[in-house]
Amino acid sequence: MSGEMDKPLISHRLVDSDGSLAEAPSEAPKVGILGSGDFARSLATRLVGSGFNVVVGSRNPKRTAGLFPSAAQVTFQAEAVSSPEVIFVAVFREHYPSLCSLSDHLAGKILVDVSNPTEQEHLRHRQSNAEYLASLFPTCTVVKAFNVISAWTLQAGPRDGNRQVLICSDQPEAKRAVSEMAHAMGFMPVDMGSLASAREVEAIPLRLLPGWKVPTLLALGLFVCFYAYNFIRDVLQPYVQEGKNKFYKLPVSVVNTTLPCVAYVLLSLVYLPGMLAAVLQLRRGTKYRRFPDWLDHWLQHRKQIGLLSFFCATLHALYSFCLPLRRSHRYDLVNMTIKQVLGNKSHLWVEEEVWRMEIYLSLGVLALGTLSLLAVTSLPSIANSLNWREFSFVQCVATSSGGNTGSGTSRPVQSQNTNLPALHHQTSFLASQGFCLLTCACVHLMWSSRGCELDTI
Ligand code: NAP
Repeated sequence: MSGEMDKPLISHRLVDSDGSLAEAPSEAPKVGILGSGDFARSLATRLVGSGFNVVVGSRNPKRTAGLFPSAAQVTFQAEAVSSPEVIFVAVFREHYPSLCSLSDHLAGKILVDVSNPTEQEHLRHRQSNAEYLASLFPTCTVVKAFNVISAWTLQAGPRDGNRQVLICSDQPEAKRAVSEMAHAMGFMPVDMGSLASAREVEAIPLRLLPGWKVPTLLALGLFVCFYAYNFIRDVLQPYVQEGKNKFYKLPVSVVNTTLPCVAYVLLSLVYLPGMLAAVLQLRRGTKYRRFPDWLDHWLQHRKQIGLLSFFCATLHALYSFCLPLRRSHRYDLVNMTIKQVLGNKSHLWVEEEVWRMEIYLSLGVLALGTLSLLAVTSLPSIANSLNWREFSFVQCVATSSGGNTGSGTSRPVQSQNTNLPALHHQTSFLASQGFCLLTCACVHLMWSSRGCELDTI
């Protein structure tokens, strides 16, 4: 695979001395493209760079020819589709009927549908774009491919973006031809089955962070609750009881006190469902029964919840660094110094407080470092490079050192259990994780409530 990645995007024999794309040798496979928009241009550039002979079909070739690499031939639609066996249809669905006049030229050829519907179109049409194209051209073989690749990725090359090209068609031969083409262009073809899967493939670019909605709402809900609590405790109560104006604390100090609370609750919500699942399996004495739906969903969202916990912890660290920069902090410092001078105190040093703060900070940095380790190992590219033992090792080392996101714990709990002793083992493992987590949270909360925050002087 690395060899493939090392391949230059544009083969040397196709680059002229002036750097422009030269003509591909005449024996190179010929590929047609219908349309001259953004996608067609990027596709043509990539195909030419991969050694294909490209002919582009436009309604107005004179206007668009200058936008394509010189190696690509830009001509009228009918001429463009007459010789190539594979033709990319880089036009929108609503314009498919305008291509029907080309039916005779297209008969028996492979049409590659690259289109993506809008969300409304996807909901409105029961039939996928690819199936619609197939219904308009019954004598052609339609292959759905490249729709998940953006024009930008095509132009920049697969090294900088998504490498997977999802392909589906009812004709295995046509699918193989397009797969080979994708491979030659440096992409990784993924067989998605028959053309009936096209609707599913077309829905992929429409997704907006699936799986994040509930965890994000949960994090926001927790933030609002804790913020309200800290506001009442640190701002409203001193104002009502002692008439002290501490409203300046709202933008930084209260937010900074709120963030670790949210991070810790989210963190415990990462491990709680795993423990519940293990207890449930132990009670049932088998792993061969489905979890209740709510638990199943909770288990599936652990990675997102863990990453949000990491996000809150990182923000907390950044806010903490900013605390001494505030004007209020400087005034407090000066006022305290004046008080000391007036009180004739020359050397202020409380050994216990010094030690408490040192350890408090050190634990915070260690916890954040551990959280970062777990967050990094939850990235698909890194998680996929680890085997199960390595993955468990990182999780185990990280959690036993105090802080954890559990963000990588999205691997199914069930997969490890084969018998009851294994279930017992897992339960105790999870219990120890929970214990570490709880200890860490308690120490943190206890010390911060004893005035061991950077905010207090
Ligand atoms: P675009 O820039 O608007 O280009 C569409 C092209 O369709 C026009 O340049 C036009 O070329 C051609 N066309 C053919 N018949 C037409 C008609 N009757 N009316 C209007 N135009 C007609 O769009 P695009 O971004 O290249 O997208 C093309 C297709 O690729 C779409 O189906 C899109 O969903 C898909 N896609 C795009 C991207 C992307 O990143 N842009 C990514 C994935 C998939 P002529 O005027 O030369 O005929």
